[in-house]
Parts: sequence; structure tokens; C-alpha cells
Amino acid sequence: MRVALVNPPWRYDHSIYFGCRAPHLPLELGSAKVLLEQAGHEVLICDGQLSGKDDAGLVAEVAAFGADMSVVTTAPTYLFWRCAPPELRVPRAFLDALGDQGGRTVAVGPHGSVTPGATLNKLGVDLVVRGECEEALVELADGHAPATISGLAFRTDGGLTLTGGPRATRFKDLPALAWPDAWIEGHHHHHHRFEAEPDGPGAEVEASRGCPYHCSFCAKIDFRDAYRRRDLPPLLDEIDRLIAQGVTYFYFIDEIFLPQKPLLEALEARQVPFGIQTRIDLWKPDMLDLLGAARCVSIEAGVESLTLEGRALLDKNCRLTTDELAERLIHARRRVPFVQANLIEMPADDDALVAEWREKLQRAGVWANDPVPLYPYPSSPDYRRLFGEPDEAAWERAHAYYLAQFSSLSDIQEEHPLPLPDLEAACAHCR
Ligand code: SF4
Repeated sequence: MRVALVNPPWRYDHSIYFGCRAPHLPLELGSAKVLLEQAGHEVLICDGQLSGKDDAGLVAEVAAFGADMSVVTTAPTYLFWRCAPPELRVPRAFLDALGDQGGRTVAVGPHGSVTPGATLNKLGVDLVVRGECEEALVELADGHAPATISGLAFRTDGGLTLTGGPRATRFKDLPALAWPDAWIEGHHHHHHRFEAEPDGPGAEVEASRGCPYHCSFCAKIDFRDAYRRRDLPPLLDEIDRLIAQGVTYFYFIDEIFLPQKPLLEALEARQVPFGIQTRIDLWKPDMLDLLGAARCVSIEAGVESLTLEGRALLDKNCRLTTDELAERLIHARRRVPFVQANLIEMPADDDALVAEWREKLQRAGVWANDPVPLYPYPSSPDYRRLFGEPDEAAWERAHAYYLAQFSSLSDIQEEHPLPLPDLEAACAHCR
């Protein structure tokens, strides 16, 4: 089968989206591509951001390819599935432009994973894959009937059919991904790097997927949930292939980059700078030393709250005290040039305590952000605590709740975020 995998040209005007807006490698599509090709299918991968093409340009590529199945993602890359733009206007605009020129249409991403019926309606696609999509796409391309494939959603006689809950890809033995030279050459962004200007292309890679913790605000219940570590040989092949393409910085998109001596030693041998997100309480000083020797140049560490009570409320399951966390962050900063401690707006944390702690860390060179309130993503425990199990109006409910928390919309973003129905006005005719 001929399969087109499409990352549409994202725009974020009036969105609450707070993730990075620069182009990144669409890892969910790259992972699907390698597995589809392994199964003997022909694959076209198109990315509106990395190629600079608009909807018309992408549609022309898909039509010229003669796709039997076209897959569109509803988040800019796996890195941002946990904080995706809530609105579906961008994939919808691509699908409108595509019409019937791409064969069967399939949506993958965080939206369909939690609200499959609403996603089918808003996008007008034939099928939605719930959860991690790669293996379901292979089964579809292999010609299996949708009703026999787990994790799908589709309409039959006006009703919604769900074939089981969201999927998780095996991932452990995911082969090395390959990216077009032109994409790598044009990938100037070094994600979350601050100590130096890019001196060559950047790239994103995945050493593990999921996380064993269940912090209350973390939107991963329906995808990238259970922790899986990737085998080292394919990961190192992928890294070496990227280095050969000129990459001078990697960002590990892992939800939680856990200490892993063999990987750190392999990275130390390569001496290519990289960035990670992790929990600092899980790193002992000797492993932080190795992380620095491996040339990690950026750590983003979730601390979230400055009190034990606050961290317990967030279900952080953190065993260190606030002082011990500070010590660990400062130790990391001696080895790694940029260390960030993320804080969340918590009623238990008084403003003076937060200001004092931020100052103490900043004196030691650790950046701690001004605490921010959180969007209750439908795939998070917080959403369920506030509203119960997500139904098909979950994104609208989360969005309205988030906007209502602010007396002035300009408090949260310069761009005056709009209500979800306004952002999705172009989707409304198919609801
Ligand atoms: S440790 Fe990080 S990835 Fe894991 S549940 Fe908490 S916020 Fe999510």
C-alpha cells in the first residue's frame, strides 16, 4: 500500500499552546514510516513546517504520490502530545484541502486518543487511531479490517465504533529512524538549548517512551504512558546516522530521561551536546557527573511545588525534601551549563517562599521559572479530578475552565487566546 504521513503546517494565533513553535522532527510519523517500510509498504512523509510547504503544497505531494491512505497528526510532534494545541483547525484545513485525493484518511494524535468521536466529527476523517499509532497503521496498510484492529474509532451507520482502548507501541526494538537530508539541513533549531547558538543542524531522538509516575497534571494517560526503554543498538545507529548528516545537537524527547549508564557512556564517546527533561530526584550525584561528561548541556527538571504537601497534591511521589532538591539541582548545574527547575502555580506555595527559592537557585545559576497555572488536558488525572471521565466535550470543557481562571486574558499570553469553538469555527460545519 502507498501511505502518506502528513504533519500539517502549524499556526498558533490566538491559541493557548505554550509549547515550542519552532519546527521539530515528527517522530510519530518517522516511527510509523520505518515500521511500514519494514512491512513492505511505500511511504511518503511530508512536513509543512520543515519543508515550508502550505496545505496546497502538501496536497500536491500526496496527490502526486498516489496515496491509498493519508495519515495526519493532530500535534506538531510526539514531543508535544502532552501539551498539544487544543484546537484542530490546522489538521482540518489540510484535510479540507486534500479532499478525496489521498485515499482513506486517518487521524492520529492526542485528541483522537481521548475524544475519538469528537475528533472524527471535527476532522471528517474515515478513521482515528487511539494512543500510539505506529503499529495500528501497519495493520491498516496490511489490509486488516478496521473492526479487527484494536485502538481504532470510526463511524458505522451513524454510530461510533471503538475497537478497544488506546494503543501502546512495543517501541523497545524500534529500528533506527531515517530523515531526508534536506529536512536535517533545514532543522536549525536546537530545542531547549540556551548556553550556545546553534552551530549546525539539531535533531530530536527518543531513548525511552512513557513514564512510571502519574503526576496529577501530566497528560499522558491515553498515550506514552507505560515506561519503555529502547534498545541501544538501533538508538545509537540513529544517532550516528544523524551525526553523519551533520547534526550538532540532540534533544531527547523522552517524558523522563532516566539514568542509564551504557547510554551515557556511548554519548560520552560521541561528545555531541544534547538536552533532556527529567526529574532531578532520580539522579544521584555520580550519575549527574556522568551526564555532564556525556555533554548534556540542558536539563529541564520538574520540581513543580516547593512544599512536600504541594508535591504530594500533585502526586509527584518525590522522596527528597525541598532543600535536597535544591542541592541536587545545584550539583547538576556544576556539570551542565543550563539547568531549569519547573514550577507550577500551587495554592500551598506562598509567593515569598517561591521568590526566595528562585533567588537562591538563580544565585547558583539554576533557572527556576515564575510558577504558571496549568491547562487541565483531558488525558491528565487533573481533568478527571475536576470533571470526571472525559466525554466528547472534554477539550471544550478544559479550555473554558482554563480561560475562566484569568481575569484578563492578556495575563497568560500576548495573543489573547480565544474560546475553542471560535478557534475551530472552520470545523463547525462537520460537527
Ligand atoms: S514525572 Fe514527568 S512525565 Fe512522569 S508523570 Fe510526572 S510530569 Fe509526567
